[in-house]
Amino acid sequence: MVDVLVIGGGNAALCAALMAREAGASVRMLEAAPQAWRGGNSMHVRNLRCMHDAPQDVLIESYPEEEYWQDLLKVTGGKTDEALARLVIRASATCRPWMRRHGVHFQPPLSGALHVARTNAFFMGGGKALVNAYYRSAQRLGVQVRYDSPVDRIELEGTRFVAAWVGGERITARACVLAAGGFESNRAWLREAWGQNARGEWPADNFLIRGTRFNTGVLLKQLMALGADTIGDPTQAHMVAIDARAPLYDGGICTRLDCVSLGVVLNRNAERFYDEGEDFWPKRYAIWGRLVAQQPGQIGYSIIDAKAVGRFMPPVFEGVQADSLAELAAKLELDAERFTHTLAAYNAACRVGHFDHTRLDDCHTEGLAPAKTHWALPIDTPPFYGYALKPGVTFTYLGLKVGASTAVQFGGQASANLFVAGEMMAGNVLGQGYTAGVGMSIGTAFGRIAGSQAAAACDHAVPKQGADHVAA
Ligand SMILES: Cc1cc2nc3c(=O)[nH]c(=O)nc-3n(C[C@H](O)[C@H](O)[C@H](O)COP(=O)(O)OP(=O)(O)OC[C@H]3O[C@@H](n4cnc5c(N)ncnc54)[C@H](O)[C@@H]3O)c2cc1C
Repeated sequence: MVDVLVIGGGNAALCAALMAREAGASVRMLEAAPQAWRGGNSMHVRNLRCMHDAPQDVLIESYPEEEYWQDLLKVTGGKTDEALARLVIRASATCRPWMRRHGVHFQPPLSGALHVARTNAFFMGGGKALVNAYYRSAQRLGVQVRYDSPVDRIELEGTRFVAAWVGGERITARACVLAAGGFESNRAWLREAWGQNARGEWPADNFLIRGTRFNTGVLLKQLMALGADTIGDPTQAHMVAIDARAPLYDGGICTRLDCVSLGVVLNRNAERFYDEGEDFWPKRYAIWGRLVAQQPGQIGYSIIDAKAVGRFMPPVFEGVQADSLAELAAKLELDAERFTHTLAAYNAACRVGHFDHTRLDDCHTEGLAPAKTHWALPIDTPPFYGYALKPGVTFTYLGLKVGASTAVQFGGQASANLFVAGEMMAGNVLGQGYTAGVGMSIGTAFGRIAGSQAAAACDHAVPKQGADHVAA
């Protein structure tokens, strides 16, 4: 019998498998996806949010623990476990040497439109390269990896893990790490969670899934039924407003649209509905999926003019282009009269100071509801562009409740040999909201802890207390 069974094949699973193996445990991974699609949502990522007190290799200036914590506190509206959040933050300062040892490369700081050169370390080659590096390292260390192996249920004895079932096959192990993602790819569950709105719509029917189709939440559901403690609300998720032309699954980052803060966003009735300039885009992009989900037909339209072009990462798909606002409305099939009225009211309300997209500048609207509080420039310079937006679910936050050991708990009692990491427990830190790069910070910190703990449960290397053992 293998020591540690890791269920999943993304960042959290790989971190757990590598740590358990390094501690001397024999490790088997069960990945639902075929090899070509291995890596879950992690194959789509670009960066990791990292605390640092002084400039470090690929990170400029500093991003102290307190600032990181305040950022998290703000986006989550306090729906976060401070001890676990601080554990993640501290671990993010020290994990990169360990990641490098397993073949992950980082790229030099980015500057310009993204505002994240200070806070986020970018992976050379993106998430696909990261995942591939970890799989190569796992293979070298002798981790057994099985693809096409969706686990449909877990067998427990009380709170102890005994076996995982893949179809009719029973796979036993001395300890187990669950790292099988959220339930974002389970459209029926999303539909049930979001329900029907006052307009009679089923909003989730119009959602797109930004990442893998394999995160169906089967094990999360089973563990909930078995009485595991949970945390979070099933409608809370990282949700981005993405290009409405994106495919149902795996559109990845190329379907993102980063011009929202440079223009206005209208709904199907050609009305604005939220402050597009509330804060820097990396701190706000993840609320827009939810905002669009609340609009009629779950659709929005990002409108910019020629002045915005060159100030944001160019989208992969071209926008709808027009030489006048009335023509743009017609091409987007929006009511032209209301469209031009909304734009005229916005343009008239703009109080232009010193435009600076790298700062929370003083260009704002006056007497307009909702206000645009920064980067408010009139939309008056042709050609004009419009992009239809739909809610894109990145990952869901409902998960298993844990403490610092990542043990799955049943009525507050921690399992001795069943641990959980990544999206399946990210809701402990992210009750709502998001700040760019924290998903990978959570998965890396807790994946590594879960792997060490699972190895320790099989009497391999007892990890040090608390977060210390996360330091490389
Ligand atoms: C387009 C996109 C861009 C993103 N960009 C970033 C970014 O730049 N920075 C950041 O921090 N975060 C980013 N995220 C979020 C990030 O991907 C997640 O927070 C993180 O990767 C989660 O890791 P995980 O291992 O928990 O889940 P995943 O990487 O999704 O892995 C889950 C794994 O479990 C497998 N699985 C599911 N069910 C079963 C089952 N029953 N049996 C066996 N295996 C199963 C899946 O196949 C998959 O391999 C992004 C996500 C997306 C979709």
